Amino acid sequence: MPFTANRQFKKTPRLFSSAKGMYYTSVDGRQVIDGSAGLWCVNAGHGRPEIASAVERQLSTLDFAPSFNMGHPLAFDFAERLAEIAPKGLDRIFFTNSGSESVDTALKIALAYHRAAGQPTRTRLIGRERGYHGVGFGGMSVGGMVANRRQFATHLPGVDHIRHTHDMARNAFAKDQPDHGAELADDVERMVALHGADTIAAVIVEPVPGSTAVLPPPKNYLQRLRELCTKHGILLIFDEVITGFGRLGAPFAANFFGVTPDMMTTAKGITNGTVPCGAVFASRQVHDGLMVGPDNAMELFHGYTYSAHPVACAAGLATLDIYKDEGLLTRGAQFADYFRDALHSLKGLPNVVDIRNVGLMGAVEVAPRKDGVGARGYDLMVDCFNNGLYFRMSGDSLAMSPPLIVEKKHIDDMVSILGDAIKRVA
Ligand code: PMP
Repeated sequence: MPFTANRQFKKTPRLFSSAKGMYYTSVDGRQVIDGSAGLWCVNAGHGRPEIASAVERQLSTLDFAPSFNMGHPLAFDFAERLAEIAPKGLDRIFFTNSGSESVDTALKIALAYHRAAGQPTRTRLIGRERGYHGVGFGGMSVGGMVANRRQFATHLPGVDHIRHTHDMARNAFAKDQPDHGAELADDVERMVALHGADTIAAVIVEPVPGSTAVLPPPKNYLQRLRELCTKHGILLIFDEVITGFGRLGAPFAANFFGVTPDMMTTAKGITNGTVPCGAVFASRQVHDGLMVGPDNAMELFHGYTYSAHPVACAAGLATLDIYKDEGLLTRGAQFADYFRDALHSLKGLPNVVDIRNVGLMGAVEVAPRKDGVGARGYDLMVDCFNNGLYFRMSGDSLAMSPPLIVEKKHIDDMVSILGDAIKRVA
């Protein structure tokens, strides 16, 4: 199993057999609230019949179409619909099958873009400490989660990292965006001073790091990052695999924070988690930069057998219909304050050292125990699962990101189960 202590899991398996709306059903028949929208992806809730029938219809109409040199109309319909909801100017779409593939695709597009623009020395990729960009060699390399890199001993050359913004000394228990840390964006200047702007292709960050436990950006941080990248001709990539499709109460984090990157990577919520799919959104400038050479020359030597798979497109179109009909891409905004206040009500419970939130993303962090980082978080995750709440743990941070169909009573239940678990496990 991926990212799992397999031998431990074998002793105490946790298995779901079905899901509907806000709830999973465990194999022993218990209802478990989905506190993390699966893995930050089931934004419209589970078991949506509209998606199921679109998938079924598609499978019996056109099950596959070659993605190279051939196509099918659904791919273009889906791209058009995505372009409609994209942040202004980011309306050129390339399809992938996952977040990891979206990241590797965006990084390669950045390299190709500079090369086409006559700046082939711009090959350096800048990530950020505590970033998670999937598990491909590109994503792992720009990623900043130590454990995800150390085991493999090597990664892409020519990669550097700016500092993360998690600063409990200054920002613990900050509500929404923390006040301190915008100056950390100036690390881009240090990278430029160290390596030279003419060697740097792109900076990639998650607007809100999710897998490293929900770290809302300090006020003005992303704005500063944008300014510096523009100043130095560096492409800015937002990894919106988690924050895309309504998680913050706006269609994308770029809308929410009012900062437009040059490219955006997405996956997960693009099909409500039902069929593997991802997409890179690029600016016209990036797109047009690649449309060079004779018409019969390929513009991008990159792609997947399953890019714009018809079944994924059908699932994605049905998902976008639901998002639109139910106003889900902005619904989170109505619940963000309630969610924030509910999470912060856990302040003062034993071992709770920080609580963070933005939109419908939040985390409660507990102090590490002597027997290792993540041990207390694991015990809390198991206790909550046994008492009817699933959430994604990240070390000793317990991350909450309910489906966007959430109601106040679900938030109350999530926080009450978690609060009881924290008292019990203490
Ligand atoms: N980027 C971010 C920000 C993610 O959160 C994830 C997955 N959690 C990925 C990339 C990788 O996505 P996938 O697992 O679909 O490859």
